[in-house]
Formats: sequence, structure tokens, C-alpha cells
Amino acid sequence: MIKNIGLVWLRDDFRINKNTALLEAVSKHEQVVVFFLYKEKKFLEQEAQKWWVSKSLKQFRSKLDLYNINLEIIRSETYKIFFEKLFDKKNFSIYWNRIYEPSYIKFDEYLTKKFNSKNIEFKIFKGNILNEFGEIKKADGTPFKVFTPFWRTAEKFYSEKIPPKEKKISKCAKKIKYFKNIINESEIYPYKNWFKKFEKFWDPSEESALRELKNFLNSRVNNYSVNRNFPNTIGTSKLSPYIKHGQIHVETIWEECSKLKNISVSKFLAEIGWREFNHSLINYFPYMCNKNYSKKFDDFPWEKNLKFLNAWKKGKTGYPIVDAGMRELYSTGWMHNRVRMIVGSFLVKHLLINWTEGEKYFKNCLLDYNQANNVSGWQWVAGSGADAAPYFRIFNPILQGDKFDKNGEYVKKWVPELKKVPKKFIHKPWELNDNNLLKLGRDYPYPIVIHEEARQKALSAFKKI
Ligand SMILES: Cc1cc2nc3c(=O)[nH]c(=O)nc-3n(C[C@H](O)[C@H](O)[C@H](O)COP(=O)(O)OP(=O)(O)OC[C@H]3O[C@@H](n4cnc5c(N)ncnc54)[C@H](O)[C@@H]3O)c2cc1C
Repeated sequence: MIKNIGLVWLRDDFRINKNTALLEAVSKHEQVVVFFLYKEKKFLEQEAQKWWVSKSLKQFRSKLDLYNINLEIIRSETYKIFFEKLFDKKNFSIYWNRIYEPSYIKFDEYLTKKFNSKNIEFKIFKGNILNEFGEIKKADGTPFKVFTPFWRTAEKFYSEKIPPKEKKISKCAKKIKYFKNIINESEIYPYKNWFKKFEKFWDPSEESALRELKNFLNSRVNNYSVNRNFPNTIGTSKLSPYIKHGQIHVETIWEECSKLKNISVSKFLAEIGWREFNHSLINYFPYMCNKNYSKKFDDFPWEKNLKFLNAWKKGKTGYPIVDAGMRELYSTGWMHNRVRMIVGSFLVKHLLINWTEGEKYFKNCLLDYNQANNVSGWQWVAGSGADAAPYFRIFNPILQGDKFDKNGEYVKKWVPELKKVPKKFIHKPWELNDNNLLKLGRDYPYPIVIHEEARQKALSAFKKI
């Protein structure tokens, strides 16, 4: 045991199991403090996640209590300001798990230099990912830009790894306080009523994540490859917010899936594979976090139309499946993947609004927001990404609705003003000529653009690049 204090920088790792940084601290030090840096500026753009994070902090604090470990929350304008002060203390060793976002990786490099020069013991561990960044490359050493060969290689590479013997964390000798001016998680809790609805849908804890995984694998996974496309069915795992905040490690998901192995499980694991692929992409090509991966899109004639953008955000475009998705997002902090693709395509191709606007709005509203998946998801939809949907493939929101929400149940759940609309018209209510059932312009908006016109306009804009 080392005499000094073990510090653990908690970021997206709200779990006891498979938390390597925490395990290292507890096995080396008699006294351990876990700290969380609350950078208000970051959360101004990720408002929904304030709710998840404050809940998670509370949950995790009570878990750490059982191990005699204090969780201390410190408000800091920037991470750098905080660490500048910490460097002077010297009576600690420090550990954390990696976050695979270019700005975090760059900061890790800065800290590495600083801690080395100050002779302070520190260690950075693999984060919530299967293969470490950089492990999966083409035979010629360059990064994969296409998903299928990436995942074929990554899956094989990971399955051949010999898993380290799982160790459990033990109780620390004594609970101690370390930092001054600590704040309570209630200060992170958002004030707006918006978030109150989230309580109904989510319980941000490690136990819930494991329970959700078990429930999914015990039943829904068998029909995953089909049901995952239908937004009115709970056909997917809904694990994304838990994965993002680290309530569950993807290695745990892999291990549990490996016990089953069938086509549907492989399909499910391939989605985890897309997450791995996206993390690899943004780290090899960091510019794509805010610019087009494919440079030819830099000349795309995007339009600035605040009226359209706001109608989209509010779920008032007049296209039922789009509006249902946007309202599901606002009410629950989550949106079904199929519908993410439909609303994304609508913004970018029907309204010709730059994907960066959609990315920003999702970032603010999604509980599962993570840079890799969001940026890549949006660039996939826009056609500007690596291995993306071709731009000329323009989702028709009426046909998508007919195909994936045939009876309109999903639409009616989130757009109650369409409750009386018969099935035949549910995805094109403008064709229903019955003011007793629906009066367009009063009960529900007229479509803000006409599908075929918007499609033609998008195609000719695309031709320009
Ligand atoms: C425009 C757009 C934006 C997106 N933004 C995000 C985001 O910020 N955060 C996020 O986690 N996902 C994002 N996705 C991917 C996907 O929509 C969600 O991961 C998925 O809907 C989460 O639901 P689930 O946990 O039930 O998924 P499941 O189908 O149960 O899949 C299991 C896990 O695999 C991963 N996964 C599933 N689908 C994808 C995918 N298409 N790409 C990458 N990883 C995937 C997720 O971690 C997910 O939790 C985005 C997709 C699009 C089209």
C-alpha cells in the first residue's frame, strides 16, 4: 500500500464493476477520493445530460460510501484551472479512464507531460470501449473508413484477447475528505420543468443498466434484427444513456452476449461495433467533429431558415413521423434510431439545413449524446461522412411512416392531435378532407415543404457539388 492518497477523476464511469481506474486506486491506497469536475460551460450545450449526471452522482455517491470512499464534486471553469492548482499538492497519485474524444485525448497528453515533470504518479486506463483506440487498423497501417471490414477485424481481434482476471474492489480503510469548496449534485440539477418527464422513463444507476441488459437478452434480443426498426415496439436495448455515462461497460455487454450467440445477438453486437467504428473515426479524423468529413460538402449550398429549424425542433413540420420523433426526443431525452435517421434526413435534405444544426440540437437534448456517435450519425445522414448514406438517397417521410409505423401508433402516442385520424391518412393527414377529425392549420400544421418539390431541390443542390 502506498501512503499517499489515491485520487480518481470520475468522468463517464458511473460504475463499480470494470472501473479500472477505481480498482487501481483502491488496490494501491488505503485512502481514496473520487472527484467529479463540474464544468458549467460544457453542460450549457448538453442540458438534458445535467439531469442524468446529477442523478448518477447521487446514486454513485451512495455506492462509494459502502467502500469508505468520498465522492467530491468541484465546480471549475476549465479543467486546466483545476489541475494547475492540484499540481502543487503532491501528496497524491491519480487515475482515470480514457474518454475517446479528441479534446479529452489532447488534454490527457497535456496532463501526462505535467504529471511526469512534477514526478506525480498517475495512470490512464482504457475507457468504455472494446478495443483500445489505434489497435484496429488495415494491414497497411492506415485507419478503416468503411464499417464492415472494420468490424470484421475488430470483432476477431477482441474475441481473441484473453480477458484479464476480474477483480472486485475492496473497502478502503478510512473515508477522508480531500478538496475544499465542494458542491452538492443538487447544484447541477436543472431548474426547468422540461426534465421532470425524464423521471418516468429512466433510472440512472448501474443496477438498472444491468437489469435492462438482462431483460433485453432474456427476451427482446431474439427478434432484435427485425423489431429494431419499429419505433412503436421496444425492440432495442435502450442502453445508450447507460453506456454513454458508463453505468455499464461494453465489455460486460459483450460477455453477456457471448453466452448466447445467434444471428440477432450478432446484429446487436454489430451496433456496438458501429459505436467502436465511430470512436475510431473521430480520433483518426478529429476535424470531422465540426466539419464535413468529405470536403466536397464544404461547398454545399445550405440554407439558413430559422422558421423551418424551429418547426423541426418543436415537432411542428406537418410530417407526422418527423414530429413524433422530435417530440419523443424532447419528452424522454431519447429517440428511436430509425426515427433519428428520418428526422435527420428531413432536416438536411427536405429543409436543406446544415447537419451541424441538428447535431447541436441533439447534443442538447439527448441523454445518450456522445460526440463520436452524434457527429458520425449526422454525417451519415447528410452523406458527408465516412461510409455514409449517399446524399441522393432521400428518405420519404410518408413511406417511412407507412413502412415502420403502419398503424400510426407511434405517431399517435407523441402527436395526440392526430388521434382521430384514420390509419390510411396518418402519415399524410393533408389528404384527409374531414374537418371533424382534423382541421389542418388549426389542430395540426400544414406540411412546411412539399415532399416531391423538396426532394427535387435537394437533388439539384447536390448536383452543384
Ligand atoms: C443522427 C443520429 C444521431 C445519433 N446520435 C447518437 C448519440 O449522440 N449517442 C448515441 O449513443 N447514439 C447515437 N446515434 C445512434 C443510435 O441512434 C443510438 O445509439 C440508438 O438509437 C440507441 O438506442 P439503443 O440503446 O436502444 O440501441 P440498440 O439498438 O440497442 O444498440 C445497442 C448500442 O449500440 C450502439 N448503437 C446502436 N446503434 C448505433 C448506431 N447507429 N451508431 C452507433 N452506435 C450505435 C449504442 O451504444 C446502443 O446503445 C445517432 C444516430 C443518428 C442517426
